[in-house]
Amino acid sequence: MSEPILTIVVPCFNEEEVLPDTMSQLSILLEDMSARYLVSKKSKLLFVDDGSKDRTWQIIHKESLKNERVTGLKLTQNAGHQNALLAGLFTAKNMSDCVVSIDADLQDDISAIIGFIEKFREGFDVVYGVRQKRDTDSFLKRTTAEGFYTLMSKLGVDLIYNHADFRLMSQRALQALEQFEEVNMFLRGIVPLIGFRSTSVYYDRKERQAGETKYPFKKMLAFAFDGITSFSVTPIRFVLFVGVLSFVISFLFGCYFSILKFFGNTATGWTSLITSIWLIGGLQLIAIGLIGEYIGKIYKESKRRPKYIVDMDSYSLPMSLHLKN
Ligand code: UDP
Ligand code: MG
Repeated sequence: MSEPILTIVVPCFNEEEVLPDTMSQLSILLEDMSARYLVSKKSKLLFVDDGSKDRTWQIIHKESLKNERVTGLKLTQNAGHQNALLAGLFTAKNMSDCVVSIDADLQDDISAIIGFIEKFREGFDVVYGVRQKRDTDSFLKRTTAEGFYTLMSKLGVDLIYNHADFRLMSQRALQALEQFEEVNMFLRGIVPLIGFRSTSVYYDRKERQAGETKYPFKKMLAFAFDGITSFSVTPIRFVLFVGVLSFVISFLFGCYFSILKFFGNTATGWTSLITSIWLIGGLQLIAIGLIGEYIGKIYKESKRRPKYIVDMDSYSLPMSLHLKN
């Protein structure tokens, strides 16, 4: 097999602080891998500017003019990490044999990409980067992440434990991914569904070099909630179960109090009455909230909105990778 053309896709949202260093480290890596005939000399870096408000796009643009390995894609506005990633993957797909996705802050060990390529050359279509430890994460992030993976596996969703969006996909795996038309793409859950030969490469994750996390706790919770409701109907079944259970219990209580009344032993019953009103009211609200979540999903999917819109300005730049598609 001749050397594969690799594109490394990097979604960037307000990453001016880390980008120069990221660009130079990834360029050196590509240089090194092509010198060792692991990848083709045509391999590129594709930076996707996800509607940044800072100098991210200017940095990408400037670098692309002097570094032929650097290409860029600019989204008109912030489409979110997963959508920015998809924009990059699908743009890179046609002119690459394989594509690696990695975060801009280089928390993931870039030398693991060499391992990814070796696995790809052995014939794997998907290679997952898996973190060995989570000791560089805050206590909150670590425990919530562990809880999330455990919950997802209990709900029957096939996720790769401790794998985020650091992975290699072959061209045909990306073609398969394109067939998933849902608007709400939770890549970690969808990639295992495409069913090609896959394997994992283990690495240690570092701390963010500069800049701030773009996933504060609120966004992380929303991401996890989205992941669960996009992939599992178990929560809604649970609501049904609770509903049936409370019905049975209240029925039994009803019988019990009727018997007491029959023997003339009635209590005034205000406490039990008010508690049950609140209990049932609460249960109903939870149920309605969850049903609403699913209806919201159906609503979003039925609109079939585009997942991202490429800024046409970026097509006119000399670095346009996508022009060659
Ligand atoms: N990101 C993005 N769009 C967003 C949020 C994040 O493209 O709306 C990018 C961000 O620039 C980074 C990656 O997604 O390259 C992961 O974000 P971050 O490193 O902040 O997440 P964390 O590692 O803290 O989970
Ligand atoms: Mg990060």
